[in-house]
Amino acid sequence: MSFTMTSKDYVAYINIAAKKIHDNGEYISKLDATTGDGDHWANINMGFENLVAAGPEMETMPMCDVFKKIGMLMMSKIGGSSGVLYGGAYMAAGKAIAGKETIDSKDLCLALDTMVNDMMTRGKAQPGYKTMIDSLYPAVQAYKACLERGDSDADTMAAVKKAAIDGAEETKKMEAVKGRASYQANKGVGHLDPGAVTMSYQLECLCDYVTANLL
Ligand code: ADP
Ligand code: MG
Repeated sequence: MSFTMTSKDYVAYINIAAKKIHDNGEYISKLDATTGDGDHWANINMGFENLVAAGPEMETMPMCDVFKKIGMLMMSKIGGSSGVLYGGAYMAAGKAIAGKETIDSKDLCLALDTMVNDMMTRGKAQPGYKTMIDSLYPAVQAYKACLERGDSDADTMAAVKKAAIDGAEETKKMEAVKGRASYQANKGVGHLDPGAVTMSYQLECLCDYVTANLL
């Protein structure tokens, strides 16, 4: 039996992720100042502040509409590449779970898989390009493998979280192919990609939320 995630759960998770992002402002801004233009934290934090503000309204919507609403807010409120990429990804995920009032583990995996595919197409990026995809892609692969094996939800969430965090860590060694770090002479080698780190925060909070509250 899979867990069931409601809109209330998703809003609760968003609030936790917003706090995690908010609390790591100095660290993330420093990472983006090193390999980019320094605004990644301000961009993503502003987006999450808007999501938190829309929380009470989103709690009353079916899950498919929550994803669409998050997509529209991220697209319109977050500046930079991340706004377009997260916005498009969430809107695509909303379509993938069309008609769903709540979602189960398979649906959540489908939503995340849809997101990473949309990001790769929209951003013309692949895993290994030193972007946020390097956290989300391995997390989705781990999720799919767990579902195929029939692992428990607890084991699945632990595996997804680990893959997301390890994936972000891997960006340290990577040469940037897309995004601002690719304009640098050393292509950002030796530094973590800020977008991969904020992606891993979100996936970590999501997995922890499911484990603590839905299993
Ligand atoms: P910008 O680079 O426009 O200033 P942000 O600072 O908000 O935008 O976000 C930077 C992050 O966006 C990078 O750390 C990287 O993870 C991600 N990123 C940039 N370009 C791409 C792309 N083409 N595909 C996927 N992710 C990307
Ligand atoms: Mg930037």
